[in-house]
Amino acid sequence: MRYLVLSDVHANLTAFEAVLKDAGKLGTDYEFIWCLGDIVGYGPDPNDCVDLLRSMPHLCLAGNHDWAALGRLDIRTFNADARKAVLWTRDHLSDENLAYLDALPTTFVLGEFTLVHGSPRGPIWEYILDPLVAALNFPHYQTPYCLVGHTHTPSIFKQLDDKGGCDIIAPTYGETIQLDQHHQIINPGSVGQPRDSDPRAAYAMLDIENLTWEFRRVTYDIKSVQGRMREAAMPERLINRLDHGW
Ligand code: ZN
Repeated sequence: MRYLVLSDVHANLTAFEAVLKDAGKLGTDYEFIWCLGDIVGYGPDPNDCVDLLRSMPHLCLAGNHDWAALGRLDIRTFNADARKAVLWTRDHLSDENLAYLDALPTTFVLGEFTLVHGSPRGPIWEYILDPLVAALNFPHYQTPYCLVGHTHTPSIFKQLDDKGGCDIIAPTYGETIQLDQHHQIINPGSVGQPRDSDPRAAYAMLDIENLTWEFRRVTYDIKSVQGRMREAAMPERLINRLDHGW
């Protein structure tokens, strides 16, 4: 069974649609979507993104921006631009979509995979950006593989030994990776706001029977999203960063 694995859509409908188109046909090229959180926040299309995800067979985890939109996090820890986007998102989400976000789980386990937004020991908040933090997280989940989002950076952290040894593997595109039985923490990157200096939308395809993983990137019409953000009077810094992928 093939899963389309995506994360951090951040209310960017144009990027989300480009990913779905690139991924192929539901039922033929993949059967199910795993979304690792932050479906909303920063972008101009929160309801459209939640509606589109809800129209497809999927499982979605809660992210920090989803919780912020619900008022479940203290947004004083967010920077000023992110705070402004959170308040705009909160004002624009429908009651039905707020209720949907409110019911999202923070952790999900299926077979050999654990799914969280941030990290196994801090599912909403912790960022896994380096091998040291990844190594500290390996004892906090029971399956061989853990899928995470939150950093907006595609990567694989692979455990080398139980003394803290950990490798970071950068993504290669157009290549299928065979997952071995090492503990691994895998991040597909961000659909709607990449932060690895590549502005293309990121996602991944996972075959859970053959244990293969493929990082993918797709271009989308960034200008049209920026136009909607300007209409919504969103902070210029959030608009410009989409051009640069940071
Ligand atoms: Zn995010």
